[in-house]
Amino acid sequence: MIDTYRTKGLRKQLEEELKNKGIKDDNVLDAIANVPRHYFVPKSLFEHAYTDTPLPIGCKQTISQPYTVAKQSELLDIKKQLRVLEIGTGSGYQAAILRYMGAFVYSIERQRDLYEQTKKLLQNLSISVASKHGDGYNGWSEFAPFDRILVTCGAIELPRSLLEQLKINGILVAPIGESEQIMTKVVRLSDTEFETTTHGSFRFVPMLKDAQI
Ligand code: SAH
Repeated sequence: MIDTYRTKGLRKQLEEELKNKGIKDDNVLDAIANVPRHYFVPKSLFEHAYTDTPLPIGCKQTISQPYTVAKQSELLDIKKQLRVLEIGTGSGYQAAILRYMGAFVYSIERQRDLYEQTKKLLQNLSISVASKHGDGYNGWSEFAPFDRILVTCGAIELPRSLLEQLKINGILVAPIGESEQIMTKVVRLSDTEFETTTHGSFRFVPMLKDAQI
């Protein structure tokens, strides 16, 4: 894995582009400028690593568009040492961004091959993320409750099971919908009260039930 002046420069340009598209959180922009996205895309797509577009990562899955990663990270209001549960590890890029921002990241992936491949990659890069192969609908009860929960695949409806693993005053961000998803932010106000706001439409691969063996 090589990070050159050129790839650093391309990241700076991407940071500017996301700023122009409305991302304001300096910590998010800083993470985009520092985490090498080209480590997380297949070698053959290296030249496209810093364009603001999703890319295929094998197993019929995609690494999210940088704008989407930045938007979800901004909505989560990440602070150092918060415990964040991510559903859909995929390439590991979003997890690496959250870790760079100082969060403790717990990430679940349902596709076994992808889970294994990404676990190795994160280890090789010395990025410390707790990862698990399983169905994200079940959350990760051993480590619950979480300060933040991030869903990076499209769920047809808000996964209630995950809301139960959210701390009071915690934030969950999830794209909800079938062919197109509405970015939804939920703040847990009390044991039983939740405040929901929406933040534009996006396109994600579907959140599927049951882990793939
Ligand atoms: N955060 C990823 C985005 C990957 S795309 C990144 O930065 O690259 C979404 C991922 O969610 C896919 O890898 C898909 O396999 C996974 N996924 C879909 N349904 C899931 C479920 N129920 N539990 C866990 N992961 C799931």
